[in-house]
Amino acid sequence: MNNDELNFYKRQINLPNFGLEGQEKLKNSKALVVGAGGLGSPAILYLSAAGVGKIGVCDFDKVEITNLHRQIIFDYEEVGKTKTQSAKKKINKFNPLINIEEISESVSPDNVENIISGYDVVLDCTDNFATKFLLHDACYLNKINLVQSSIYQFEGQLQVFRFAEDTGQGCYRCLWQNIPEEGCVGTCADAGVLGVVPGIFGTLQALETIKILLNWDGLVWNESLIFDLLSLNSRKIRWKKNVNCPLCGGNKIIKQINPGAYNRMKDFEISYKDVDLTKYKIVDIRESFERVEEFLKDDSLKIEHIPYSTLQNSLPNINNGDTYLFYCRSGRRTKELVGRLWKNNYKNTFSLKEGAEGISMILDSNKK
Ligand SMILES: [Zn+2]
Repeated sequence: MNNDELNFYKRQINLPNFGLEGQEKLKNSKALVVGAGGLGSPAILYLSAAGVGKIGVCDFDKVEITNLHRQIIFDYEEVGKTKTQSAKKKINKFNPLINIEEISESVSPDNVENIISGYDVVLDCTDNFATKFLLHDACYLNKINLVQSSIYQFEGQLQVFRFAEDTGQGCYRCLWQNIPEEGCVGTCADAGVLGVVPGIFGTLQALETIKILLNWDGLVWNESLIFDLLSLNSRKIRWKKNVNCPLCGGNKIIKQINPGAYNRMKDFEISYKDVDLTKYKIVDIRESFERVEEFLKDDSLKIEHIPYSTLQNSLPNINNGDTYLFYCRSGRRTKELVGRLWKNNYKNTFSLKEGAEGISMILDSNKK
Protein backbone atom coordinates (compact mmCIF):
# COMPACT_ATOMS: atom_id res chain seq x y z
CA MET A 1 0.00 0.00 0.00
CA ASN A 2 1.35 3.45 -0.82
CA ASN A 3 1.42 6.48 1.48
CA ASP A 4 -1.75 7.96 0.04
CA GLU A 5 -3.62 4.78 0.78
CA LEU A 6 -2.20 4.52 4.30
CA ASN A 7 -3.34 8.07 5.01
CA PHE A 8 -6.74 7.78 3.34
CA TYR A 9 -7.68 4.76 5.44
CA LYS A 10 -5.65 5.62 8.57
CA ARG A 11 -8.60 6.09 10.89
CA GLN A 12 -10.08 2.69 10.15
CA ILE A 13 -6.72 0.89 10.08
CA ASN A 14 -6.37 2.02 13.71
CA LEU A 15 -9.49 0.07 14.68
CA PRO A 16 -8.96 -3.04 16.79
CA ASN A 17 -9.03 -6.20 14.62
CA PHE A 18 -8.67 -4.14 11.46
CA GLY A 19 -5.06 -3.08 10.91
CA LEU A 20 -3.10 -3.23 7.68
CA GLU A 21 -4.24 -6.78 7.19
CA GLY A 22 -7.89 -5.71 7.11
CA GLN A 23 -7.13 -2.88 4.70
CA GLU A 24 -5.26 -5.27 2.38
CA LYS A 25 -8.25 -7.60 2.44
CA LEU A 26 -10.57 -4.80 1.38
CA LYS A 27 -8.13 -3.68 -1.32
CA ASN A 28 -8.14 -7.19 -2.78
CA SER A 29 -11.92 -7.52 -2.63
CA LYS A 30 -14.55 -7.15 -5.29
CA ALA A 31 -18.11 -6.03 -4.56
CA LEU A 32 -20.92 -5.64 -7.07
CA VAL A 33 -23.72 -3.15 -6.48
CA VAL A 34 -26.80 -3.96 -8.57
CA GLY A 35 -29.03 -0.90 -8.84
CA ALA A 36 -27.47 2.57 -8.49
CA GLY A 37 -30.54 4.09 -6.88
CA GLY A 38 -31.53 5.14 -3.35
CA LEU A 39 -29.95 2.05 -1.78
CA GLY A 40 -27.05 1.74 -4.20
CA SER A 41 -25.87 5.35 -3.90
CA PRO A 42 -24.79 5.28 -0.23
CA ALA A 43 -23.59 1.69 -0.59
CA ILE A 44 -21.23 2.63 -3.43
CA LEU A 45 -20.02 5.74 -1.57
CA TYR A 46 -19.23 3.87 1.67
CA LEU A 47 -17.61 0.88 -0.04
CA SER A 48 -15.44 3.35 -1.94
CA ALA A 49 -14.65 5.24 1.25
CA ALA A 50 -13.60 2.00 2.96
CA GLY A 51 -11.22 1.12 0.12
CA VAL A 52 -12.89 -1.93 -1.44
CA GLY A 53 -10.49 -2.42 -4.37
CA LYS A 54 -12.97 -3.10 -7.13
CA ILE A 55 -16.61 -2.04 -7.13
CA GLY A 56 -18.93 -3.00 -9.96
CA VAL A 57 -21.89 -0.71 -10.57
CA CYS A 58 -24.70 -2.30 -12.54
CA ASP A 59 -27.61 -0.15 -13.75
CA PHE A 60 -29.14 0.52 -17.16
CA ASP A 61 -30.95 3.74 -16.23
CA LYS A 62 -30.19 7.41 -16.68
CA VAL A 63 -30.10 10.02 -13.92
CA GLU A 64 -33.46 11.82 -13.57
CA ILE A 65 -34.14 14.95 -11.57
CA THR A 66 -36.69 13.06 -9.42
CA ASN A 67 -33.88 10.67 -8.36
CA LEU A 68 -31.63 13.28 -6.79
CA HIS A 69 -33.30 13.58 -3.37
CA ARG A 70 -32.34 10.00 -2.54
CA GLN A 71 -29.70 8.97 -5.07
CA ILE A 72 -27.02 11.08 -3.47
CA ILE A 73 -24.13 9.87 -5.60
CA PHE A 74 -25.41 11.95 -8.53
CA ASP A 75 -25.09 15.68 -9.09
CA TYR A 76 -27.71 18.00 -10.55
CA GLU A 77 -25.55 18.52 -13.63
CA GLU A 78 -25.61 14.76 -14.34
CA VAL A 79 -29.35 14.62 -15.13
CA GLY A 80 -29.78 12.75 -18.43
CA LYS A 81 -26.39 10.98 -18.22
CA THR A 82 -26.10 7.24 -17.59
CA LYS A 83 -26.02 6.29 -13.93
CA THR A 84 -22.95 4.07 -14.23
CA GLN A 85 -20.93 6.79 -15.95
CA SER A 86 -21.98 9.43 -13.42
CA ALA A 87 -21.22 7.14 -10.47
CA LYS A 88 -17.78 6.35 -11.85
CA LYS A 89 -17.03 10.03 -12.43
CA LYS A 90 -18.02 10.88 -8.85
CA ILE A 91 -16.00 8.07 -7.25
CA ASN A 92 -12.92 8.80 -9.38
CA LYS A 93 -12.95 12.30 -7.91
CA PHE A 94 -13.70 11.14 -4.37
CA ASN A 95 -11.33 8.16 -4.11
CA PRO A 96 -9.06 7.60 -7.12
CA LEU A 97 -7.30 4.77 -5.27
CA ILE A 98 -9.99 2.21 -6.13
CA ASN A 99 -11.52 0.94 -9.37
CA ILE A 100 -15.11 1.21 -10.53
CA GLU A 101 -16.38 -1.14 -13.18
CA GLU A 102 -19.35 0.14 -15.19
CA ILE A 103 -22.00 -2.38 -16.18
CA SER A 104 -24.67 -0.42 -18.08
CA GLU A 105 -27.06 -3.31 -18.46
CA SER A 106 -30.25 -4.44 -16.89
CA VAL A 107 -29.82 -7.75 -15.06
CA SER A 108 -31.67 -10.55 -16.81
CA PRO A 109 -31.68 -14.34 -16.63
CA ASP A 110 -29.43 -14.37 -19.72
CA ASN A 111 -26.66 -12.20 -18.33
CA VAL A 112 -26.90 -12.46 -14.53
CA GLU A 113 -24.34 -15.22 -14.03
CA ASN A 114 -21.89 -13.45 -16.27
CA ILE A 115 -22.35 -10.14 -14.43
CA ILE A 116 -21.90 -11.51 -10.89
CA SER A 117 -19.02 -13.82 -11.78
CA GLY A 118 -15.74 -13.01 -10.04
CA TYR A 119 -17.25 -10.85 -7.28
CA ASP A 120 -16.91 -11.70 -3.58
CA VAL A 121 -20.20 -10.06 -2.60
CA VAL A 122 -23.28 -8.86 -4.48
CA LEU A 123 -25.34 -6.03 -2.99
CA ASP A 124 -28.93 -6.27 -4.14
CA CYS A 125 -30.04 -2.64 -4.29
CA THR A 126 -32.90 -3.27 -6.72
CA ASP A 127 -36.59 -2.59 -6.11
CA ASN A 128 -38.55 -5.44 -7.67
CA PHE A 129 -39.17 -9.02 -6.64
CA ALA A 130 -38.33 -10.68 -9.96
CA THR A 131 -34.80 -9.19 -9.98
CA LYS A 132 -34.32 -9.85 -6.25
CA PHE A 133 -35.11 -13.55 -6.68
CA LEU A 134 -33.02 -13.73 -9.84
CA LEU A 135 -29.97 -12.30 -8.01
CA HIS A 136 -30.64 -14.49 -4.98
CA ASP A 137 -30.86 -17.72 -6.98
CA ALA A 138 -27.86 -16.83 -9.15
CA CYS A 139 -25.75 -16.00 -6.06
CA TYR A 140 -26.78 -19.28 -4.43
CA LEU A 141 -26.00 -21.37 -7.53
CA ASN A 142 -22.64 -19.61 -8.06
CA LYS A 143 -21.68 -19.55 -4.35
CA ILE A 144 -21.38 -15.77 -4.11
CA ASN A 145 -22.27 -13.83 -0.95
CA LEU A 146 -25.39 -11.67 -1.10
CA VAL A 147 -26.47 -8.65 0.93
CA GLN A 148 -30.07 -7.80 0.22
CA SER A 149 -32.35 -5.03 1.33
CA SER A 150 -35.63 -3.45 0.42
CA ILE A 151 -37.68 -0.55 1.70
CA TYR A 152 -41.27 0.50 1.73
CA GLN A 153 -42.02 4.06 2.81
CA PHE A 154 -40.46 4.33 6.31
CA GLU A 155 -39.70 0.66 6.87
CA GLY A 156 -36.94 -1.46 5.47
CA GLN A 157 -35.43 -4.88 5.83
CA LEU A 158 -32.03 -6.43 5.44
CA GLN A 159 -30.80 -9.99 4.84
CA VAL A 160 -27.30 -11.42 4.49
CA PHE A 161 -26.48 -14.74 2.80
CA ARG A 162 -22.89 -15.98 3.03
CA PHE A 163 -23.29 -18.42 0.16
CA ALA A 164 -19.54 -18.47 -0.59
CA GLU A 165 -18.92 -20.09 2.80
CA ASP A 166 -21.86 -22.46 2.95
CA THR A 167 -24.94 -23.11 0.86
CA GLY A 168 -26.43 -25.65 3.26
CA GLN A 169 -27.80 -23.30 5.91
CA GLY A 170 -30.88 -22.00 4.19
CA CYS A 171 -31.85 -19.23 1.82
CA TYR A 172 -34.60 -16.72 1.09
CA ARG A 173 -36.58 -19.35 -0.84
CA CYS A 174 -36.90 -21.28 2.43
CA LEU A 175 -39.16 -18.39 3.45
CA TRP A 176 -40.65 -17.39 0.08
CA GLN A 177 -40.86 -20.36 -2.25
CA ASN A 178 -42.44 -18.40 -5.07
CA ILE A 179 -41.79 -14.88 -6.28
CA PRO A 180 -44.51 -12.63 -4.83
CA GLU A 181 -46.71 -10.77 -7.30
CA GLU A 182 -45.31 -7.43 -8.32
CA GLY A 183 -47.61 -4.65 -7.22
CA CYS A 184 -48.14 -6.05 -3.70
CA VAL A 185 -45.70 -3.41 -2.58
CA GLY A 186 -45.62 0.04 -4.15
CA THR A 187 -42.51 1.34 -5.85
CA CYS A 188 -40.80 4.58 -4.87
CA ALA A 189 -42.50 6.37 -7.75
CA ASP A 190 -46.02 5.66 -6.51
CA ALA A 191 -45.55 5.06 -2.78
CA GLY A 192 -43.25 8.02 -2.12
CA VAL A 193 -39.98 7.83 -0.24
CA LEU A 194 -37.89 10.06 2.01
CA GLY A 195 -34.28 9.98 0.79
CA VAL A 196 -32.76 9.22 4.16
CA VAL A 197 -34.65 5.88 4.42
CA PRO A 198 -32.89 4.09 1.53
CA GLY A 199 -29.83 6.08 2.67
CA ILE A 200 -29.79 4.20 5.97
CA PHE A 201 -30.49 0.80 4.43
CA GLY A 202 -27.89 1.21 1.68
CA THR A 203 -25.40 2.19 4.37
CA LEU A 204 -26.31 -0.95 6.36
CA GLN A 205 -25.68 -2.99 3.20
CA ALA A 206 -22.20 -1.45 2.90
CA LEU A 207 -21.58 -2.23 6.57
CA GLU A 208 -22.58 -5.89 6.25
CA THR A 209 -20.50 -6.19 3.07
CA ILE A 210 -17.41 -4.90 4.87
CA LYS A 211 -18.03 -7.42 7.68
CA ILE A 212 -18.21 -10.25 5.16
CA LEU A 213 -15.02 -9.11 3.43
CA LEU A 214 -13.19 -8.90 6.77
CA ASN A 215 -14.63 -12.20 7.99
CA TRP A 216 -16.35 -10.50 10.88
CA ASP A 217 -19.64 -11.67 12.34
CA GLY A 218 -22.73 -9.87 11.07
CA LEU A 219 -26.39 -10.51 10.56
CA VAL A 220 -26.79 -14.28 10.84
CA TRP A 221 -28.30 -16.92 8.58
CA ASN A 222 -32.04 -16.94 7.97
CA GLU A 223 -32.57 -13.66 9.71
CA SER A 224 -34.20 -10.41 8.60
CA LEU A 225 -33.53 -7.12 10.31
CA ILE A 226 -36.72 -5.06 10.14
CA PHE A 227 -36.26 -1.41 10.99
CA ASP A 228 -39.10 1.11 11.14
CA LEU A 229 -37.49 4.51 10.81
CA LEU A 230 -40.60 6.40 11.83
CA SER A 231 -40.84 4.84 15.30
CA LEU A 232 -37.15 3.78 15.31
CA ASN A 233 -38.24 0.32 16.45
CA SER A 234 -36.19 -2.53 15.08
CA ARG A 235 -36.64 -6.26 15.35
CA LYS A 236 -35.11 -9.40 13.92
CA ILE A 237 -37.16 -12.20 12.44
CA ARG A 238 -35.65 -15.67 12.15
CA TRP A 239 -36.83 -18.42 9.85
CA LYS A 240 -35.87 -22.06 9.68
CA LYS A 241 -34.13 -23.80 6.83
CA ASN A 242 -36.88 -25.54 4.86
CA VAL A 243 -35.91 -29.10 3.96
CA ASN A 244 -38.32 -28.90 1.02
CA CYS A 245 -36.95 -25.57 -0.23
CA PRO A 246 -36.98 -25.57 -4.07
CA LEU A 247 -33.48 -24.07 -4.15
CA CYS A 248 -31.49 -25.35 -1.17
CA GLY A 249 -33.68 -28.25 0.05
CA GLY A 250 -33.17 -31.99 -0.44
CA ASN A 251 -35.31 -32.26 -3.53
CA LYS A 252 -33.91 -29.40 -5.59
CA ILE A 253 -36.26 -27.96 -8.19
CA ILE A 254 -34.24 -24.87 -9.14
CA LYS A 255 -30.93 -26.21 -10.44
CA GLN A 256 -30.11 -23.47 -12.89
CA ILE A 257 -31.33 -20.03 -13.93
CA ASN A 258 -34.35 -20.70 -16.08
CA PRO A 259 -35.32 -17.53 -18.02
CA GLY A 260 -39.06 -18.21 -17.93
CA ALA A 261 -39.06 -18.28 -14.14
CA TYR A 262 -38.12 -14.62 -13.72
CA ASN A 263 -39.27 -12.61 -16.72
CA ARG A 264 -42.85 -13.58 -16.38
CA MET A 265 -44.64 -11.50 -18.94
CA LYS A 266 -48.37 -11.60 -18.45
CA ASP A 267 -50.76 -12.06 -21.38
CA PHE A 268 -51.67 -8.41 -21.12
CA GLU A 269 -48.10 -7.13 -21.16
CA ILE A 270 -46.75 -6.00 -24.47
CA SER A 271 -43.29 -4.87 -25.52
CA TYR A 272 -42.72 -1.68 -27.50
CA LYS A 273 -41.20 -3.83 -30.26
CA ASP A 274 -44.64 -5.29 -30.99
CA VAL A 275 -46.67 -2.09 -30.79
CA ASP A 276 -48.22 -0.09 -33.61
CA LEU A 277 -49.41 3.06 -31.81
CA THR A 278 -52.09 3.80 -34.41
CA LYS A 279 -54.00 0.68 -33.32
CA TYR A 280 -54.42 1.75 -29.69
CA LYS A 281 -56.05 4.34 -27.52
CA ILE A 282 -53.02 5.43 -25.51
CA VAL A 283 -53.40 6.26 -21.83
CA ASP A 284 -50.63 7.71 -19.63
CA ILE A 285 -51.29 6.87 -15.96
CA ARG A 286 -48.28 8.65 -14.50
CA GLU A 287 -48.78 11.55 -12.13
CA SER A 288 -48.65 15.04 -13.67
CA PHE A 289 -45.20 15.78 -12.27
CA GLU A 290 -43.73 12.78 -14.08
CA ARG A 291 -44.94 13.86 -17.51
CA VAL A 292 -42.00 15.71 -19.00
CA GLU A 293 -41.34 14.15 -22.45
CA GLU A 294 -41.43 16.07 -25.72
CA PHE A 295 -43.76 13.52 -27.32
CA LEU A 296 -46.56 14.61 -24.96
CA LYS A 297 -46.81 17.81 -27.03
CA ASP A 298 -47.65 15.77 -30.15
CA ASP A 299 -51.44 16.09 -30.34
CA SER A 300 -51.68 13.55 -33.17
CA LEU A 301 -50.88 10.79 -30.65
CA LYS A 302 -54.07 11.65 -28.70
CA ILE A 303 -52.58 10.52 -25.40
CA GLU A 304 -55.15 10.48 -22.63
CA HIS A 305 -54.02 11.21 -19.06
CA ILE A 306 -55.58 9.43 -16.06
CA PRO A 307 -53.27 9.59 -13.00
CA TYR A 308 -52.77 6.27 -11.23
CA SER A 309 -53.51 7.97 -7.90
CA THR A 310 -57.16 8.24 -9.05
CA LEU A 311 -57.31 4.60 -10.15
CA GLN A 312 -56.32 2.73 -7.03
CA ASN A 313 -59.89 2.01 -5.98
CA SER A 314 -61.63 2.33 -9.33
CA LEU A 315 -61.27 1.38 -12.97
CA PRO A 316 -61.05 3.76 -15.92
CA ASN A 317 -64.00 3.92 -18.34
CA ILE A 318 -63.31 1.41 -21.09
CA ASN A 319 -65.01 1.57 -24.45
CA ASN A 320 -65.47 -1.98 -25.72
CA GLY A 321 -64.91 -1.10 -29.38
CA ASP A 322 -61.36 0.17 -28.75
CA THR A 323 -58.07 -1.44 -27.79
CA TYR A 324 -56.19 0.37 -25.04
CA LEU A 325 -52.49 0.71 -24.33
CA PHE A 326 -51.65 1.92 -20.83
CA TYR A 327 -48.20 3.12 -19.93
CA CYS A 328 -46.51 4.48 -16.79
CA ARG A 329 -42.81 4.99 -15.97
CA SER A 330 -41.61 1.43 -15.60
CA GLY A 331 -44.56 -0.74 -16.62
CA ARG A 332 -45.29 -1.69 -13.04
CA ARG A 333 -48.30 0.47 -12.23
CA THR A 334 -49.89 -0.43 -15.56
CA LYS A 335 -49.23 -4.11 -14.85
CA GLU A 336 -51.23 -3.80 -11.66
CA LEU A 337 -54.01 -1.77 -13.28
CA VAL A 338 -54.39 -3.88 -16.42
CA GLY A 339 -54.28 -7.02 -14.26
CA ARG A 340 -57.38 -5.68 -12.50
CA LEU A 341 -59.02 -4.73 -15.81
CA TRP A 342 -58.53 -8.29 -17.11
CA LYS A 343 -60.03 -9.70 -13.92
CA ASN A 344 -63.08 -7.59 -14.80
CA ASN A 345 -63.04 -9.00 -18.32
CA TYR A 346 -61.69 -5.92 -20.11
CA LYS A 347 -59.35 -7.98 -22.28
CA ASN A 348 -58.97 -5.20 -24.83
CA THR A 349 -56.48 -3.46 -22.51
CA PHE A 350 -52.69 -3.83 -22.49
CA SER A 351 -49.75 -2.69 -20.38
CA LEU A 352 -46.62 -1.37 -22.11
CA LYS A 353 -43.74 -3.26 -20.50
CA GLU A 354 -41.11 -0.55 -21.01
CA GLY A 355 -43.31 2.35 -19.87
CA ALA A 356 -42.84 5.88 -21.22
CA GLU A 357 -39.36 4.95 -22.48
CA GLY A 358 -41.12 2.41 -24.71
CA ILE A 359 -43.28 5.14 -26.29
CA SER A 360 -40.12 7.17 -27.03
CA MET A 361 -38.51 4.12 -28.62
CA ILE A 362 -41.53 3.44 -30.85
CA LEU A 363 -41.56 7.07 -32.00
CA ASP A 364 -37.80 7.03 -32.62
CA SER A 365 -38.01 3.89 -34.73
CA ASN A 366 -40.95 5.39 -36.69
CA LYS A 367 -38.77 8.38 -37.62
CA LYS A 368 -36.01 6.19 -39.07
ZN1 LIG B 1 -33.71 -22.48 0.87
